[in-house]
Amino acid sequence: MFDFWQRALFFPFLVLVGSLLLWGIFDALSAALFFGTAILLRLIAQLRQLAALEYWSMSSETSSVPDASGLWEEVFTRLNKMMRKQREAREKHAAALQQIEQATSALPEGVAILDDADHIEWCNPLAELHFGLDAARDVGQQITYLARQPEFVQYLSMANYTEPLILRGTRQDDLVLSIKVVPYGVNKKLLISRDITHLERIETMRRDFVANVSHELRTPLTVVNGFVETLQDMPNLDNDMSRRALLLMSEQTKRMEGLVDDLLTLSRLENSLNTLVEETVDVPALLQTLHLEGQSLSAGKHVLKLEMDCAAKLQGNTGELRSAFGNLVSNAVRYTPQGGDIVMHWHKLEDGQTAFSVSDSGIGIAPEHIPRLTERFYRVDRSRSRETGGTGLGLAIVKHIASRHQAHLNVVSEEGKGSTFSIVFPAKRVLL
Ligand code: ADP
Repeated sequence: MFDFWQRALFFPFLVLVGSLLLWGIFDALSAALFFGTAILLRLIAQLRQLAALEYWSMSSETSSVPDASGLWEEVFTRLNKMMRKQREAREKHAAALQQIEQATSALPEGVAILDDADHIEWCNPLAELHFGLDAARDVGQQITYLARQPEFVQYLSMANYTEPLILRGTRQDDLVLSIKVVPYGVNKKLLISRDITHLERIETMRRDFVANVSHELRTPLTVVNGFVETLQDMPNLDNDMSRRALLLMSEQTKRMEGLVDDLLTLSRLENSLNTLVEETVDVPALLQTLHLEGQSLSAGKHVLKLEMDCAAKLQGNTGELRSAFGNLVSNAVRYTPQGGDIVMHWHKLEDGQTAFSVSDSGIGIAPEHIPRLTERFYRVDRSRSRETGGTGLGLAIVKHIASRHQAHLNVVSEEGKGSTFSIVFPAKRVLL
């Protein structure tokens, strides 16, 4: 700084000394004239440099700062350095951005960035393809204006994105997308779409295969079972061995029939075309019936109680709910040793939710098994399940029925102490 002032004042000082000399040698007028002219010329030179800077600042950013001399030279050099650094930083950022864009373009998923009002800020080519967008034209537009499926609009407005949305027929009728939203930053959203058309096709083939095989097995099984029963009823069947063989055949064919029935039920529940037929379900009346059926299944081996804390009915399907509730009661009877207690409970929870719970004092389940209970054919103890006529499909059926009613299955259990299975219904399904 001191150096700056030294250099800045050096010229006026020289002019002042020259003027004083002139005054001494000649007269005051010559000295004043010399001083005025010198300062004016200096001022003009400074203004020229300022004009060059002003002209540069108005021209394109890319041209370099003009050459300068004297005091300005240093300022201009610094400015030049700053500009170069800025340009380099910008180029670095642009290269990084380009790399990110190239990487996201190569992603096997569609990615779009949405602002707090769901306007598209950016999207990659796959997102353009999935939602029928044109980035050049649609950036800045609200995505729900361009992709209008009600389920998509509703999903975007939700605050909970833990489960992906399966969206059919977005752009073309046969396209199936799995959509996920990841909130980030301040109210921004990352919309990720994945084409699962192929996976869905395989899943449909698998479902159709299971349904067809089950269907094909049903008739021969009924025929075999019919003959076994006829043979069992024959009066001249005196051979013990034949009697035993027929008994075993009858047990096994009945088991297979149960399995085929459960597989067909699952196929029907999984079929997306088979929508829920809704009606008013008189839950208290249904539970009375299930209580009687449970007692007959238990055959006096357990104390089976029914507790109804509310008289609420449900908006749903009676047949499906009967099957789901019945499965829980039957499991409690099958997995509770003789003399145990079982309680069927219909009660209200907070926020208007209502739950059907079955608590038992049975064998209970170790914590590591609980998350897998609703998988098909998952059994904690295979032999016990088989002995009691289980198919390993009951809780898978319960879970499907619950989710068709937007309800969820809760399991609380302790090994050796007992279990409570609850189906919790959302307030919108509860009719008071
Ligand atoms: P299963 O026909 O074998 O009973 P489920 O799908 O109904 O098939 O149940 C899956 C498994 O969960 C059962 O095999 C059993 O191990 C366990 N389970 C279900 N309910 C109970 C219960 N109330 N107490 C203890 N274990 C149970």
